Amino acid sequence: MKRISLFLAASCCLYAAGKPNILFIMSDDHAAHALGAYGGRLAVLDPTPALDRLANEGMLFENAFCANSICTPSRATLLTGQYSHVNRVTTLSGHLEPDRQYAPKLIGQAGYQTAMVGKWHLKKEPAAFDYYCVLPGQGSYFNPIMRESGGPWPRNVRRFSAYDSAHSSDVITQVSIDWLKRRDKTRPFFLMHHFKAPHDNFENAERYDFLYADADVPEPPSLWKVPNHGSEATQGMGTSIGKRNARRNMGQHMFVDPALGDRAYKRAAYQRYLKKYLRTVRGVDDAVARLLQYLEDEGELDNTVVVYTSDQGFMLGEHDYIDKRWMYEESLRIPLLVRHPPTVAAGSRSRAIVNNTDLAPTLLAFAGVAAPDFMQGRSLSPLLRGETPADWRKATYYRYWMHMAHHDNPAHYGIRTEDFKLIFFYGLPLDAPGAAAAATQPGWELYDLRADPHELTNVYGRPAYASVTQELKAELLRLKAEVGDNDEKYPELMAVRARYW
Ligand code: CA
Repeated sequence: MKRISLFLAASCCLYAAGKPNILFIMSDDHAAHALGAYGGRLAVLDPTPALDRLANEGMLFENAFCANSICTPSRATLLTGQYSHVNRVTTLSGHLEPDRQYAPKLIGQAGYQTAMVGKWHLKKEPAAFDYYCVLPGQGSYFNPIMRESGGPWPRNVRRFSAYDSAHSSDVITQVSIDWLKRRDKTRPFFLMHHFKAPHDNFENAERYDFLYADADVPEPPSLWKVPNHGSEATQGMGTSIGKRNARRNMGQHMFVDPALGDRAYKRAAYQRYLKKYLRTVRGVDDAVARLLQYLEDEGELDNTVVVYTSDQGFMLGEHDYIDKRWMYEESLRIPLLVRHPPTVAAGSRSRAIVNNTDLAPTLLAFAGVAAPDFMQGRSLSPLLRGETPADWRKATYYRYWMHMAHHDNPAHYGIRTEDFKLIFFYGLPLDAPGAAAAATQPGWELYDLRADPHELTNVYGRPAYASVTQELKAELLRLKAEVGDNDEKYPELMAVRARYW
């Protein structure tokens, strides 16, 4: 008992010394171009008024990216501050033991009460948190069952709680608010609030059934004609909106009549897809509004760092693709908003290249903890203060490992700078349990993002880009060495490199 009161007294002093609460909100597969604040073609539908408020009152990162566009690896990167090849969670089969759940562990040691609510998807128990209430695996959209431990109950008690007649976004939000209500208000909190939505199959709460019913959702031009996008390495690959991928396409997911002609089938599939997706997004947005309102009513909103992001982006019909897993912009980019009026200017924007290895160091910085050396990302604190350090990264590294699994995407890696993106599709199933065994045709893609932000034209091999290609290849190798992802341990990949580099 004595030890507990001493601890509370120490924590009280830390809170008084100005440590803010931290509310980290992450959705699953919420593409940045499906947020109004990012101003893409869907902004005319006003998809996210609450998230737009966060952007208006905080900082929006225009160039935030994931390092591996798939759920489980992104979550491991978020908690470890490390790239997939370092934290060893390269695929959906990966897991993260409690002693490697670094962000909550270190923030808890700094005097915070920590909680994890919602989608976890890292297999092992989130035992580094004081309290957790998580969906098992992907969990259910409706009437979810949650695994719960800690909080007011002893840590050795793990219970399953069933929630009837409710949508997962509403349940997760209620669980978070209930935890906030019963927290020890003398100490700051760190809450990771992770929606299942809008992951497929995009199931919205009933109250959104008629949202956008009469809307004609704007189409990306590349839905119809992309003659110069892609390469021999990606030709015919990736799951589609229309009938292009006969094995798996959105028309099948949306129960579009297969007897329709190609154009009508694709158009119907796209409209149904986007409406279901955006209805599910609106459920997330309304839930964020509830969380903000709760904090406002408590007088805690301005003393709370609110971060909103997604585990990766999503293809919403661009190039006739669905799902993620690609290094293309819509899949690579993550939304990233940070609101904290005492330290972040309202309505500010950053064009710096940041990625999801930076999230753990940033959360630690807000908690007053220096990021350990084993974290590979860098705190966004200077950017949030409006500075851009001269040595900030000029390129971000990406790698997707799950060769041809589930959505027919070949394994690849590459770099993205402010102006260019160079991707090497090596087409091999390396370190990827569950991946299809057969190698695919290797190849390169280069996009000039200054002239072609929607990546309609692969300019790799064009003489005008010869020198920039050489520079980018050198930079890619430098970056691979810097993050410690060397190909030498894969002789079959070195053989492909020898033929195609
Ligand atoms: Ca995801």
